[in-house]
Amino acid sequence: AANGEHQSNDAPESAGAKESSTEEKGAPEQGPTGHSMLAPFTSGSQQTDLHPLVITRSEGVYIYDNKGKKYLDALAGLWCTALGGNEKRLVEAAYKQLNALPFYHSFWNRTTEPSLKLADELVDLFKPVKMAKVFFTNSGSEANDTQVKLVWYYNNHRGKPEKKKFIAREKAYHGSTLVTASLSGLANLQKGFDLPDAFPYVLRTDCPHYWRNHLPGESEEDFATRLADNLEKLILKEDPNTIAAFIAEPVMGAGGVMPPPATYWDKIQPILKKYDILLIADEVVCAFGRLGTMFGCEKYNIQPDLVSIAKALTSAYAPLGAVMVNQKVWDEVSAFSDKLGQFGHGFTYSGHPVSCAVALEAIKIYKEKKIDEYVASVAPTFQDGMRTLKDSPIIAEIRGTGLIMAVEFGDKDPKKPFPASWGIGSYFGAECAKLGLLVRVSGDIIMMSPTLIITTDELKDFIRMFGEAVKITEQHVQ
Ligand code: PLP
Repeated sequence: AANGEHQSNDAPESAGAKESSTEEKGAPEQGPTGHSMLAPFTSGSQQTDLHPLVITRSEGVYIYDNKGKKYLDALAGLWCTALGGNEKRLVEAAYKQLNALPFYHSFWNRTTEPSLKLADELVDLFKPVKMAKVFFTNSGSEANDTQVKLVWYYNNHRGKPEKKKFIAREKAYHGSTLVTASLSGLANLQKGFDLPDAFPYVLRTDCPHYWRNHLPGESEEDFATRLADNLEKLILKEDPNTIAAFIAEPVMGAGGVMPPPATYWDKIQPILKKYDILLIADEVVCAFGRLGTMFGCEKYNIQPDLVSIAKALTSAYAPLGAVMVNQKVWDEVSAFSDKLGQFGHGFTYSGHPVSCAVALEAIKIYKEKKIDEYVASVAPTFQDGMRTLKDSPIIAEIRGTGLIMAVEFGDKDPKKPFPASWGIGSYFGAECAKLGLLVRVSGDIIMMSPTLIITTDELKDFIRMFGEAVKITEQHVQ
């Protein structure tokens, strides 16, 4: 449990909900079975026996619960409210579109202006390679699900129907639909759901986490070389003619925040090219400035064939995801769909005009604020400030880049995690919540990705609260 899986223990404990479960005022009436909602990534007994933390309002980097308690939202919702809690321009964009045209679809060559404009805007915004087309979804999971279908469609049309398998990394998180939970390398997404066996097209390669996985004396560059060699060995063992695509995040997010080791992407990409394997960049977390560049691909010189985006695309004010495809993929998809009569894939809400209008406004704001440069300018306050805590006897590793970060509790030796039964992460999360900082706890890993508009003063306050909770947790451990 201490090794960074997408754990279900992050919601109530880290929110201090245990403490609030005994309170008298303001809590909703609870029957013996708690509330009626089946909540994601929450256990049955948490849903039955504990009050959830109910968030009712947000403002800038802060959120407020239904008792009026204010928290600095350390994860920006779920790595997504990039422009913070009350960006009126996004609200107005939604309102305006709702009044003009609340809905029309994009099937059968009918569509709406916001979806057309947004597709053009995204093609223009993505600089690492020229993208040809954008397909809209409602979420990151649907985007990655769509990637799998597109890649198969592409290979089927160019006469390589045996190219079916996807390579994904240990600890990856690519979503929680049947296919994307299979692409993900986190057991708790799969256990009990007949996965990964039900989708047997996924091969697993190394997690690029240097601190945990490097050999004694191995440099970051040598570690990257070993991972690239392992990837090539896997491709050869499986037969390159059966492998369709490699999917990865520029910086791994929900799996525990792992920036790639130096030279990693320079070494991985030529191998994929050599064996005619497509590269899918999952930019669901990294895109729109999070790493200090507009897209994560820019930071690491990644040249993908396909890209998934969601989350900050609308700053999470409305659900929207998208897949971008390059010319090579589009040429096959286009020709195949002509042959078959249509591209037989889509969702009622693909290119929902309200979500697209919000996304257009969000991108306009990102450009006006030069959000990538802004993040790069405040990132040292966050990164260096957090690293002042590195000598704490309970902190194993601090890692991150831009405005994404993880602090892992444990011994400095990665082979000596704290026993899961100590529940250090949960204890720490609850202390943070008391202090007014709401962090994401995953085993003994604390993950953070505040809003991109956070100021240096707010970052300093963030680090102060985090440091205080570390001190309290140190005493608890002794
Ligand atoms: N890909 C990555 C990298 C993610 O972090 C997530 C969600 O956290 C997803 C895909 C899935 O997105 P969604 O939750 O919108 O389906």
